[in-house]
Amino acid sequence: MDEMHKCRLCGKQFPESEMSEEHYPAHCVGNDDIIQLNIVKAMDDLMSGHARQAIVSGMKKGLSYEDAAGAYFDNELAKDLYPKGRTARTLCRECNTFLGKYDSAYLRFYNANGDPAIVRGYQERTKIQIIKSIYAKFLSLPETQDENFDFIEFIKDESMSVYSGEWRLYFVKRDFSTDLMGLADIGTGKLDFEEGVVYELSDDRFIFNLMNFEKHSCYEMNSIFDILNRNYSLIVGVGENGGYHGQVMLTDLFRQMQEQDERREFFP
Ligand SMILES: [Zn+2]
Repeated sequence: MDEMHKCRLCGKQFPESEMSEEHYPAHCVGNDDIIQLNIVKAMDDLMSGHARQAIVSGMKKGLSYEDAAGAYFDNELAKDLYPKGRTARTLCRECNTFLGKYDSAYLRFYNANGDPAIVRGYQERTKIQIIKSIYAKFLSLPETQDENFDFIEFIKDESMSVYSGEWRLYFVKRDFSTDLMGLADIGTGKLDFEEGVVYELSDDRFIFNLMNFEKHSCYEMNSIFDILNRNYSLIVGVGENGGYHGQVMLTDLFRQMQEQDERREFFP
């Protein structure tokens, strides 16, 4: 018999064949061919000068800096992690279809780069759908599968425009400060703090953190509800302290280093 899965939105049980295969982030916003950055090798290469050599030698062959860096990245640092994009089976088909309309609102926000001049012109309803779309994406994260979220009703009920639960959602637009060597690594992650937990999800243009406490004031980020305000202005990058995103990347670095050490122990 088919193993039963619980849909994260409606809460009903379904056999695997009735579950959707949803993309997080959505297919159209960069989730079509996800690679994992080999951060340990990237650091080694930066220290030893190999990264620079590889890029310079590409440029000597006539490539632009971007293309030479891209080639080095693809050939030496990238591992195909999810060649078909990152998917999960956490929603039933009906719920996944339902969330599709929120995703199309989010796509408008993404295509507009979150530009306040454009976003201010959206209808209130569209802005609420953008917010719900991002909250909903966190349901599919492997890291959140044991979490009991209090925003399920807010997502499920299309007419609900106010959410007053404990989960805050912050975001920044990506720039050079968010990406190692300008290369976007769209991973997911989780950080534990004394105050609570921080989950991360990102796409090609934005980094999102869902957390059950008020963000630390040293990290400048937009609340997703800022987009409802007439004076909404967009926060770009994570600044010098790296924000939560920097910590997610460091955690990933240490995990990769540890995995490498463990492999060395078994296969010296
Ligand atoms: Zn469902």
